[in-house]
Amino acid sequence: MNDTTHSVTGTAPAAAADTAASQRPRFLLLPMRSSCASERIYKWTLPAHEGQLPDGRRYNACPTAGVCVDLCYAKAGHFQRGTVLAAHQRNLQYVMDDLPGWEVQMTQELQHRRYRATDGSTVHVRVHDAGDYWSLPYLQAWLRIFRSAPHVTFYSYTKQVALLEKWVRPDPPAELH
Ligand code: SF4
Repeated sequence: MNDTTHSVTGTAPAAAADTAASQRPRFLLLPMRSSCASERIYKWTLPAHEGQLPDGRRYNACPTAGVCVDLCYAKAGHFQRGTVLAAHQRNLQYVMDDLPGWEVQMTQELQHRRYRATDGSTVHVRVHDAGDYWSLPYLQAWLRIFRSAPHVTFYSYTKQVALLEKWVRPDPPAELH
């Protein structure tokens, strides 16, 4: 993958895009279970690696994945259950079809009080329980989002090493760990 291409092919039918828009959740981030009751962690998830959206478009949400594909926890079990996979594919479809709209919604959502701890702790957001920074525009949207929410600590694991070396390392957002 180069820096300006992404890993999704095909064109969304307008009706399918309208349907996806009507199914968008109020909150894009889901709470994660934590062993520490006072710790608040939320997550954003895409489907892992390759697949096909309900409208027929094929995708690769982990374009630089290697041997990890064979061991990927998100390629089996709970992640592949119908409703779970469908929700993750809707997330991917949203960023594919309306990245500016998704960025606005995510930016606004992070200002909600549930992302502001009142006890001196910090709310954490895990970016990509599965999936990765699959395109440069998508990564750049996240970089703007990180900087818009200094009250949140973001963290993520990635195989997009070259992309982050070029676009993040020179000026890393303080919010990303
Ligand atoms: S990058 Fe992560 S989510 Fe993607 S295939 Fe590898 S282990 Fe799975």
